[in-house]
Amino acid sequence: MISDKKFIFMALLVFVMVMFGFLYNHPDISNARQVDSPAYKIVIDPGHGGKDQGAEGVSGQVEKDFTLQLARKVMELAEQDSRMQVYLTRSDDRFLSSIERERPQFANQLGADLFISLHGNTYTDPTVSGTETYYYHPESLLLAQSIQNHVRDATGFKDRGVKKADFFVVKDTNMPAVLLEVGYLTNPSEEQKLFEEDFQYRIAASVIEGIQDYLRTTENT
Ligand SMILES: [Zn+2]
Repeated sequence: MISDKKFIFMALLVFVMVMFGFLYNHPDISNARQVDSPAYKIVIDPGHGGKDQGAEGVSGQVEKDFTLQLARKVMELAEQDSRMQVYLTRSDDRFLSSIERERPQFANQLGADLFISLHGNTYTDPTVSGTETYYYHPESLLLAQSIQNHVRDATGFKDRGVKKADFFVVKDTNMPAVLLEVGYLTNPSEEQKLFEEDFQYRIAASVIEGIQDYLRTTENT
């Protein structure tokens, strides 16, 4: 037979255990969404910066400003997709050493899932134009194709295709990595569009779509 004292003691014990269990499990509830759909770490790399201004456009605007403006818009739009966590290799006008491989190292140390370097192209002939995407490792080809297709459609520029090149940002990165040349800053009509706010948002949206398309494809295989 259980005495009243023992009964009260046991009832208290059960209550404490239930409370402890609730408090202990509670943090898992708030983390449930992250467990179900882990965020992809995506590094966006605005080309050039600081003393390295990159290409100079016909009107005198420089590549390092274009790449940073575009990278910020990609980051802003990526906030609408909870699976994407975007990191910028630089978020202001600073110089990153290519000798010390700062850009790929940033992505490697972060354990990033994808790496996309943004650039504007340059050539001596101002009539040369178009969008092109570079990759190096075979596992980056699919990402390069997806980005190229979406950005080419968004810009409406000439499709210069996907190309292989041993640029260090795509070679020294441990994850699928591409370098996007959105258009030619030395081409007057492309340069004008590339610095337009609305046009940059359109390009940024197409970069996001390219990433989403790529993730869909790889998740289903
Ligand atoms: Zn560049």
